Amino acid sequence: MPELPEVETTRRGIAPIMTDQVLETFLVHDSRMRWPVPDDLSATVGGHVVRDCGRRGKYLLIGFDHGTQIVHLGMSGSLRRVSMDEPRRKHDHAEWIFRGARFLLHDPRRFGAILWHPAGAGPIGGHPLLARLGLEPFDPAFDGEHLARAFAGRQLPVKQALLAGTIVVGVGNIYASEALFRAGIDPRLPAGRLSRRRCAMLAESVKETLGRAIESGGSTLRDYVNATGTPGAYFTLHAAVYEKAGLPCGRCATPIRRIVQGQRATYFCPRCQRR
Ligand SMILES: [Zn+2]
Repeated sequence: MPELPEVETTRRGIAPIMTDQVLETFLVHDSRMRWPVPDDLSATVGGHVVRDCGRRGKYLLIGFDHGTQIVHLGMSGSLRRVSMDEPRRKHDHAEWIFRGARFLLHDPRRFGAILWHPAGAGPIGGHPLLARLGLEPFDPAFDGEHLARAFAGRQLPVKQALLAGTIVVGVGNIYASEALFRAGIDPRLPAGRLSRRRCAMLAESVKETLGRAIESGGSTLRDYVNATGTPGAYFTLHAAVYEKAGLPCGRCATPIRRIVQGQRATYFCPRCQRR
């Protein structure tokens, strides 16, 4: 699934091309997504200038003076630049056409979304999909103190607490395993038992893990294509533990273990990662 690094890579790909440009035409070819694409969205945004391309969690935010398009790539979607005459493919749900630039949103499994938040409805952060999201991992306020406060008293295993998205956004299944390995923390440890020192290490590890993934063009998805149409580097190739069950840990050579937590696979080194 596209995780935060893929979405951020997409944002960095589209922002320089879309920002300050007139969206000449916005076309909906198939409105069947997680929620139907609003019928009148073509008329709402066509002819308007894109002011900025932001991101909150895994939502891309295409900002106009009169509102914001909220775009989610779902389980396997992509938003990529294509040539002006490239034929549409099956599952291309929507199309943004600028002078000399064209983008297609491809979403085979229809878990993605394209919604509209009018400026009159208040700040975008108050949208129901965004209002309960945790801090951005690169927000200076996301640190060990924040984790310690959020984890206090929680019995939930730390890996699941990270995944929930209400404490920090963007730590998906791969990155949770990787960040916990980097911080030397057993993923089964109840979140409330982490010391302040280990919370600080974990916050740093989350930033480093996600930062590295973004730098490498971020990809968790095998057929992932970034916004300029080039395949992303496969982050999983650089993973220390994710999908490495049975292989020797790069630090201590102990076989990596796979367990299931909350129906999601977790990978860890039983020796390097302590309770
Ligand atoms: Zn190890």
